[in-house]
Amino acid sequence: MLRFGIDLGGTKIEGAILDASGAVVFRERISTERQHGYEHVVARIATMYASMVKAVDGARHTLGMGTPGSQSPRSGLMRNSNSVQLIGHRLREDVERTIGHALAIENDANCFAMAEALHGAARGRNVVFGVIMGTGCGGGLVLDGVVRTGRTGIAGEWGHQSIDPFGPLCNCGRRGCVETFISGSGLERQYQRVTRTHKSALEIVASAAGAPSDAAAQAVMAWFYEHFGRAFANLINVLDPDAIVIGGGLSNIDALYTRGVDEIAKRVFSDYFDTPVLRNELGDSAGVIGAALIGRE
Ligand SMILES: [Zn+2]
Repeated sequence: MLRFGIDLGGTKIEGAILDASGAVVFRERISTERQHGYEHVVARIATMYASMVKAVDGARHTLGMGTPGSQSPRSGLMRNSNSVQLIGHRLREDVERTIGHALAIENDANCFAMAEALHGAARGRNVVFGVIMGTGCGGGLVLDGVVRTGRTGIAGEWGHQSIDPFGPLCNCGRRGCVETFISGSGLERQYQRVTRTHKSALEIVASAAGAPSDAAAQAVMAWFYEHFGRAFANLINVLDPDAIVIGGGLSNIDALYTRGVDEIAKRVFSDYFDTPVLRNELGDSAGVIGAALIGRE
């Protein structure tokens, strides 16, 4: 059976089809055009789906979709999405009605975790935690090849664990969330606070490593790795996963896997620390592949 995956992003909708062996046999991107509102976004998803059905002459398939945010198990309404036009809607039901096929939907971080657990860096591991460190921080939990969303649908939302009640104000309205420290936006805000100048997250990383040395950038990165260590040690103390896979723009910081891991090791509640902290293997493809892997017929 074919597996259809759709990754709904803020600017692009991506579709991919996996064959029975897991190989990608179709891939396409179209713009989301979210400025035209919710109904239009649903219509764009239907356009992508129609193009996928046509590509395989209507062959039998499962269908899954990754979305920013998630549908509340209680109310059935979308929440916690940075694509605000989705909030408050029954996205899954609306897409199913429009296209006439069953749909499974998951938060995009859960799709990332699923893809890396089954086809990426954490292949063959049983308890896998996937982390996205981008503009914000997300996460997803895969146990024995299945995404676990939890009783209230927030399993893996590690980015909104508070690690400092007096810390920076988070987009979620609370203080000192992990996301306010070790996301791209958190890093940029700290650098701005210290230096009164703006640099992008990756520029700050480069400034700290480059010559001539930038003492302010180095101090900010020391702050960053310390919080990275604290956030990951908390996660490991609760879950003790077989592997953690990191995705998102900040996953390209090489020192996360050396200096960052040393900062975790200082803080875990065990006599030793050997948890693999892995860079993702699937890159930008993880979202759409994970969506295909969670599908329903
Ligand atoms: Zn938060």
